[in-house]
Amino acid sequence: MIIDRKLLFADHVKYVVGKAMRIFNKLCIYTRPTWGAHPDNVQTIYRQVIEPTITYAADLNSENLEQETAPIRIYTDGSKLENGGVGAAFVCFEGSKVIYKKRLKLHTSCSVFQAELLAIKEACEWTLDRRLKQGDERHQRGTRMHMGCKEVIQILSDSQAALRALQKRSNTHPIVAKTHDTIYTAAQVDLNFIFSWVKGHAGDAGNEIADETAKGAATQHKTPDYAKFPMSFVKRTMREKTWRTWQTRYESAEQRACTKELLPKLTDICALWKATKVSFQLTQALTGHGYHKEYLHRFKIAADPFCPCDNTTTQTLTHLLRECPRFEYNRLKHEMLCSNLRISPYCVTELSNKQSAIESFVTFINYIIDKLKGFNKL
Ligand SMILES: [Zn+2]
Repeated sequence: MIIDRKLLFADHVKYVVGKAMRIFNKLCIYTRPTWGAHPDNVQTIYRQVIEPTITYAADLNSENLEQETAPIRIYTDGSKLENGGVGAAFVCFEGSKVIYKKRLKLHTSCSVFQAELLAIKEACEWTLDRRLKQGDERHQRGTRMHMGCKEVIQILSDSQAALRALQKRSNTHPIVAKTHDTIYTAAQVDLNFIFSWVKGHAGDAGNEIADETAKGAATQHKTPDYAKFPMSFVKRTMREKTWRTWQTRYESAEQRACTKELLPKLTDICALWKATKVSFQLTQALTGHGYHKEYLHRFKIAADPFCPCDNTTTQTLTHLLRECPRFEYNRLKHEMLCSNLRISPYCVTELSNKQSAIESFVTFINYIIDKLKGFNKL
């Protein structure tokens, strides 16, 4: 075994590979594809002679190599369960051995993003604490930690959003800012972090353990370790409250009876807006303001409210849409299409869910409104 000054074992590897190659070449002299030693015998020689030559003292140098690249890896993860529980965790590995695990519970209003960031922040803080404690111990033993003793810790997260947030020096998120502080303090004692992204739920053993630990943290029955709600929570709560107030006001208002007949809920209006463009004709139909005689009579523009189809029925929008024989043909066309689609022909909520149905409805309304002035001889 060749031991070099820096314990990199490059000379040792060169030596054993050279030795194995010489044996292998000699073996080749006695073996060819069509003649020579039997393949089984060749395999036995390879297993018994060449392999042990290469792997001689491999335990020693492989351990060293592992330490060279990343002695400590910390997997972090955050999780939000369907029941609203939020948890975060980090799991610290030395080689393939778990040396420390931490579970953190967050308030149910917290987001997964917060949980992911919290896990990273706690992992950094724990590592810094550990480094400082080790320094103290060495100090007490009289072996001072010399300046060249650098330590690099790899932190692996499956959250690209959290890593991106950390990358930005100007980020003012409280957890990000605290993590930046810790990273800065750590650098003062030669402790550095490498942040890497690992694909979540892709079979990475470390990530799986962190994920399970975070889920476990979310189900804990205890006071949350972190309970600052995110801005998104405030916005959502305010939006929901405003929406509820609006809905109550809309439903309890005495006006807009005509609109509400077609669109009983605020969500129906939203669905309609998404499904079709609001036009002059549609607005007339939905608000009940227009050229129909019931409306004109109410404002003393027409002498009577009756429809010219029989001169006895009040000409409301409902009459025009559903009964008036003047529009029988167009109504039939619309109703047949809806019947094929199994959609109720005058329920705007249902119509909004199907593009062809809402288009047919809008075409029908446009036709009525466009013809109404001439029909009423105005
Ligand atoms: Zn009529």
